[in-house]
Amino acid sequence: MLVVVVLFATVLLRAVIVLTFVYLMLPKKRVCPLCGARLTPIRHSVLRLLLPMVEHRWCMRCGWSGLVRQTQSRVMRRAARS
Ligand SMILES: [Zn+2]
Repeated sequence: MLVVVVLFATVLLRAVIVLTFVYLMLPKKRVCPLCGARLTPIRHSVLRLLLPMVEHRWCMRCGWSGLVRQTQSRVMRRAARS
């Protein structure tokens, strides 16, 4: 039983490390990584519920779409409201 717990803990630790690394790789700025234009937020109720630390943004100039990190102030404002 101890072996199962240790193996599960290592798998969990690996998942946490990978998710942290992926989060840190997301762009933090609100400008397009391709053309530098300002990104427009796209609201997803499911994404906001599951991953409140990221948001989906879209570039109206070149069509780039992707996830970016939520700014700290917005996350803290939402936490303060609830
Ligand atoms: Zn762009």
